Amino acid sequence: MKKIGLATLVLMLFAACNPSTEKKPDDVANISAEVVDQTIELLQKAHTDCDAQLIAKGVKHAASLWRQTDGDEVYFQQFCLDNYLKTHEEKSLVFSKLEHYFETLTGNFTKMGVGLNLNLTLDNGPLHEIDRMFGAYNPSAHLSDDLYTNKIAFVIALNFPYFTLSEKETLGTEWSNKHWAWARLGDQFAARVPAQLKQQYSNANTNADIYISAYNIYMGSLRNAENEQLFTDDMILLSHWNLRDEIKSNYGDAQKGYEKQQMVYQVMKRIIDQSIPREVINSGKYQWNPYENTLFDQDQLVSFTPENTDRYQQIINSFKALQAMDAYYPAMNTYIERSFSGNMEIAQPEVEQLFHEFLSAPQVKKVAELIKARLGRDLQAYDIWYDGFKARSSISADILNNKTQKKYPDAKAFEADMPNMLVKLGWDKERAKFLASKITVQAARGSGHALGAEMHDMYSYLRTRVPETGMNYKGYNIAVHEFGHNVEQTISLHRVPYYMLHGVPNTAFTEALAFIFQSRDLKLLDMNDPNPNKEAQKTLDTFWSIYEIMGVSMVDMKVWKWLYANPNADAEQLKKATLAIANELWNLYYAEVFGLKDEPVLAIYSHMIAYPLYLSAYSFGHLIDFQIEQYLKGKDLATEVERMFSQGRLTPQTWMKRATGHVISNEPILTAVDEALSKIKQ
Ligand SMILES: [Zn+2]
Repeated sequence: MKKIGLATLVLMLFAACNPSTEKKPDDVANISAEVVDQTIELLQKAHTDCDAQLIAKGVKHAASLWRQTDGDEVYFQQFCLDNYLKTHEEKSLVFSKLEHYFETLTGNFTKMGVGLNLNLTLDNGPLHEIDRMFGAYNPSAHLSDDLYTNKIAFVIALNFPYFTLSEKETLGTEWSNKHWAWARLGDQFAARVPAQLKQQYSNANTNADIYISAYNIYMGSLRNAENEQLFTDDMILLSHWNLRDEIKSNYGDAQKGYEKQQMVYQVMKRIIDQSIPREVINSGKYQWNPYENTLFDQDQLVSFTPENTDRYQQIINSFKALQAMDAYYPAMNTYIERSFSGNMEIAQPEVEQLFHEFLSAPQVKKVAELIKARLGRDLQAYDIWYDGFKARSSISADILNNKTQKKYPDAKAFEADMPNMLVKLGWDKERAKFLASKITVQAARGSGHALGAEMHDMYSYLRTRVPETGMNYKGYNIAVHEFGHNVEQTISLHRVPYYMLHGVPNTAFTEALAFIFQSRDLKLLDMNDPNPNKEAQKTLDTFWSIYEIMGVSMVDMKVWKWLYANPNADAEQLKKATLAIANELWNLYYAEVFGLKDEPVLAIYSHMIAYPLYLSAYSFGHLIDFQIEQYLKGKDLATEVERMFSQGRLTPQTWMKRATGHVISNEPILTAVDEALSKIKQ
């Protein structure tokens, strides 16, 4: 890499003073197509032995990121001529230096984050406001801007250009590990979105988050037609998560369960169509009959204002803020594409096709029949949350708690036992010792989590809550889950061929290993659950969860497609469209199975408001987890886990194909459901 020459610098100064330069906004690309073409031609002529297409790709990509403030066209051209890496040797040399620098930056910023959040995270004494102030401070906030200002971003964009998902998946089949690592370096500077637009979305998202996090229903205020109260006064449920969990928990109540479930679902319907009185959101002041939609103050009927469109206005606000960024992503100019091809790295049509196939599978009807028989009644729309397949452990809680409390009186006892646990899972002693030596266990203030190292010279952290009486079984079970994350983090950092490839394709892959560990928690205690149908039950439980979440994800995707087709729609129009979409998808995939038409239940998810287009990730999480588990059957766990997770961050489909021989598919779970149905008849 050459330094910017003095001549170039003079040119730049000249350009900056040139009054005839046309004034454009600072945040718009300012390099004309003519200059881009001319630059490509100059470079191609000067370096006939270089890949001509790659030169063109690099120049075009650098130009798309270049702004008025970076210099004029003359300077841009000279910059490209000066900084193009001409030989494979030079490119490889610069790449290995960049790996070192990025590891230094990312690793140390992560380490700083650990330090700045230390007191907030760990259980080490009283908190002070100063802890929160440091916890909220992000020292890397300006890193990306700095790398554009000092032109490092442009050196990378020019020489290691960004490849789209479809390019990665087609060209990638021929790529060496090094080419994959180069492509991942290119991903660092895929687009340059003005800070102001990022801030606008952040504001919209924060408001949506606040809207959702304050959306509680005071269950003690609900009344049925006989003016009876079914729920206790102290029950306050957050929509939709707690409402859904309340439906789930009532499957066990033979007396009042059904009526309670009906009432919760009625509340959900009022939230979806926004006929819910504002007066009952986050307040228990009045009594509310959600069937008649009538409000009472003691016995006195009172008038109210329906929420009307607030819920849908949040989505419109997010849409507007995200759509404003479209112009800055030449290769992914809708939020739909950025969510799927960009973040998840699976193209949206592919996702939809996979979900359609699952939702239409013949197994759905068979499992629904089984549920109907088990419930002894016709299915209701909210039975998409049926949880009766959950395999309850046949070992008593006391026995389990006793065992874990004795074994793990504190966090350090768990840490000391990690090499043994890995040996029980099949690792050899030496490798187990190495993996465990990279993980440190700490007592957390809040719930458990795993924080991965971002450089070789750093630990991964397993944080878990340990009461004075020692680790109870529930805490132990979570700690084993987090341990799985830490092992993934360690292998996918220390065993990948390049730092730029470290990690996994997306979060679903690290969750998969965490669940694989978690489901072996009894084995690690040298115990065994004698329930012979445990696995079959687990399969049916997972299957039914996927059937639910895929439908919900389909609504989310269709709503965003509708938004892009109707960009000027208001909240009222969006509400109508969402209800129509939810009903349409229900009628397509659920109506026949449930024997019920036009149910809006799929539109209740709060994710749709606060985490737009995130829902599909859950379905993929289940499928990936299941496919890996099925693949591992009869194989050596440690060997396979090491092999799979040392691939690094390929695209999800490439990773899965190389890991299991097949791309992500519904097939493993559908086959397992057939087997499970032959075991569980009722
Ligand atoms: Zn997890």
